[in-house]
Amino acid sequence: MIHEILPVGPLQCNCSVVGDESTHEAIVIDPGDEIDQILALIRKHHLQVKQIVITHAHIDHVGGAMKLRAATGAPILLNQNDYALLKMLDVQAGWLGMPAPGKVEIDQNLGQADTVKAGSLSAQVLHTPGHTEGSICLYFPAEHKLIAGDTLFAGSIGRTDLPGGSYEKILHSIHDRVLALPDETIVIPGHGPLTTIGEERESNPFLQNR
Ligand SMILES: [Zn+2]
Repeated sequence: MIHEILPVGPLQCNCSVVGDESTHEAIVIDPGDEIDQILALIRKHHLQVKQIVITHAHIDHVGGAMKLRAATGAPILLNQNDYALLKMLDVQAGWLGMPAPGKVEIDQNLGQADTVKAGSLSAQVLHTPGHTEGSICLYFPAEHKLIAGDTLFAGSIGRTDLPGGSYEKILHSIHDRVLALPDETIVIPGHGPLTTIGEERESNPFLQNR
């Protein structure tokens, strides 16, 4: 598996580029910004982007999606429970003092247990509401990797104080769906350093005493 992780934009959202080493088909997850750098990685590995997956409709994760779609022709996939949030990108831009990226069009809904494929790569969609209603994680069972969006971080969890957030729901999502994964699973959070399911199960202060 080709896997490049590029922190993009002022909030340093971890954009993942994952590709099949033999067919060179690829998935880009959370192209929030810096699309020229993402395209440089795609060219470096001779990749053909088949899917653009958005873990949730916050501007720092979705802001560059239309530019990447225009450059690659790949469809944009997002859980439908975040479509309302996607219509508020200008409001979100105001929260952060960022320029609004314009309208983002979604080509396909991604729901619980859906599969996203590129070549021999196959990822399962986990619907994990809490940070937002439509938050998802992408699990690559063969590679033991979880792209977690803003649901789970090293030593922390996603904030739930923004519109659509729910502390009860994010804890339920993590306990029910994320911690169901094997301990050796490598977690690529939406921001900050990588971790593992085992490490977070053991020591994440938000996940103890339950
Ligand atoms: Zn977010």
